[in-house]
Amino acid sequence: MKLLDGLYGYFWNGYENNCNTFLLAGEKLTLIDPGHRHLFSSTEAALKADGFRIQDIDLVLVTHCHPDHIEAAEYVCRESGARFALHRDEDTFARTTGLDLARALGMELPDLAPSFLLDAGTLELGDKDPVVLDVVHTPGHSPGSVCFYWADRKTLIAGDLVFAQGVGRTDFPGGDPAALQASIDRVSRLDVGLLLPGHGPAVEGHADVRTNYAQIRRMFFMPYP
Ligand SMILES: [Zn+2]
Repeated sequence: MKLLDGLYGYFWNGYENNCNTFLLAGEKLTLIDPGHRHLFSSTEAALKADGFRIQDIDLVLVTHCHPDHIEAAEYVCRESGARFALHRDEDTFARTTGLDLARALGMELPDLAPSFLLDAGTLELGDKDPVVLDVVHTPGHSPGSVCFYWADRKTLIAGDLVFAQGVGRTDFPGGDPAALQASIDRVSRLDVGLLLPGHGPAVEGHADVRTNYAQIRRMFFMPYP
């Protein structure tokens, strides 16, 4: 469904675990976090209902390499010839501990070499009137997790760093609770009116986004008296 001009969101609401998927529809079609391969047909149908064909995707980005975010990237890139990118540290993780983790969960990671690697900084999608994303390196849930901040729209695509009234788990290999807290502190200083987490509902409006960070701080990071 359309969220804002040039931004579409596919919020997962099935029984099985899967991530939310987002599409940036500027000059280039950029799909973020395609999710599980065996659940992708419903996301593909929803994209089609909004007028988008998988074959026309130009770029697939992932916030991190857990199978519920990255698995369908291989299918999308094969169908479309899209380029694929993830953070440099996550690429390393995906070849080592992250791959072991996926296999321990009975899954595989896509057989897909990144076309380029993300570093913290800006990413321009398109030439004439590009969508400019800030890639924010936010380790904690995994070593190379990122958030994508679209400053023009005051929108944060947060992956599994932060949710509506929740934070990403850190008990998987590669998780780091202190790093997660530091990453949340950092993104909480961004000017955000629309927070789009990797799972669950969006948080809309500056006041609700601020309240959400305050609740998270109380629930997860304040020492008990
Ligand atoms: Zn995850």
